Amino acid sequence: MTSVYLDNNATTRVDIRVAEAMLPTLTEVFGNPSSLHAFGAVAKAAVAAAREDVRALIGAAHADEIVFTSGGTESDALAILGALGSATSGRTEIVISVVEHPAVRRLCQSLQKTRGLVLHEIPVDGHGRLDRAAYAAALSARTALVSIMWANNETGTVFPVADLAAAAKTAGALFHTDAVQAVGRLPVGVAERMIDLLSLSGHKLHAPKGVGALYVRRGVRLAAQTSGGSQERGRRAGTENVPGIVALGAACALAAERIASDTPRIAALRDTLETGLLARVAGARVLGDSESRVANTTSIAFAAVESEAVVRLLDRHGIAVSSGSACAAGSVEPSHVVRAMGVPEDFARGVVRFSLSRETTAAEIDRVLAVVPAVIGELRADRFEPAA
Ligand code: PLP
Repeated sequence: MTSVYLDNNATTRVDIRVAEAMLPTLTEVFGNPSSLHAFGAVAKAAVAAAREDVRALIGAAHADEIVFTSGGTESDALAILGALGSATSGRTEIVISVVEHPAVRRLCQSLQKTRGLVLHEIPVDGHGRLDRAAYAAALSARTALVSIMWANNETGTVFPVADLAAAAKTAGALFHTDAVQAVGRLPVGVAERMIDLLSLSGHKLHAPKGVGALYVRRGVRLAAQTSGGSQERGRRAGTENVPGIVALGAACALAAERIASDTPRIAALRDTLETGLLARVAGARVLGDSESRVANTTSIAFAAVESEAVVRLLDRHGIAVSSGSACAAGSVEPSHVVRAMGVPEDFARGVVRFSLSRETTAAEIDRVLAVVPAVIGELRADRFEPAA
């Protein structure tokens, strides 16, 4: 049975060109970039080249604004803890959206408990759009940091980060965005926006797991969260993950080259899938902001089914999708994102996320369109009566 992988928001396949770029760093370019000899110098040059490729993809002004990390979670933690660690006294409040990834939300919730910081979680509407009035009201001279994601991992909804960042700046706060689901999927152009900190993760853009980066605008003070060597200009101690970093650079270079042509093709396939499913399955609705979404994601709520059962049955047909967020998998409760959007109860338990990549083909979408309606029908048996 051929398999169809539509879970690219959980992780992506490493591009073969990325793997090829990475391979020599395991066996030939294996030096420690801090070493003074030739082995070290070659590794150091490889890291510098990768830093430039990451800079170029996100449109940062300077390569030294890129700090390599172990992935999205660490980038988020370094941004938040690092920014708070050097925040001006008197600024004790954090503003996030209620639909942030747990890497941001759980961290901020624990900071509220352990450090007594005040946390504002801004609600979203039924389409997953941020409540702009609540956001404006939450910002004040007490705000130390705002952290709002660029694109939501479950619905693909894109937040207006440029406007949100500008408002944060007016309040004198730092602005961080978790762009893990955005980088490589839409143009980021960080330099011309008032973004201070931006997180990205390699494994969401065809690089391996365990590598990521944090953009730190020049002039933003960031307190290091690990003590040790002075790697990454003192912002992240520890010998660099040269293979991962080189792979991330290669993945960013590929994404930069392909984003303009890939995006409309992926969006067209996603739209075919979405409209096809809505036409074939009664009691189905799309979650998220169809006006402002990443091209690769559609999150569909099916009434009268359990999403976990859909995911398992589709898996038996060789189709890999996700029930809401991969990070929330294993739980039968609707995700915090679905809850925050106020999705009605009969739909909330049946949310299935289809996330495409540049490797997705039209034939795969046809296969999904053929299988999903039958799977939903089988699971519903006679439990579902479409509204007249
Ligand atoms: N932020 C978002 C929006 C994500 O989707 C993810 C992963 O799913 C992360 C952060 C965590 O990234 P990583 O898996 O690289 O730690």
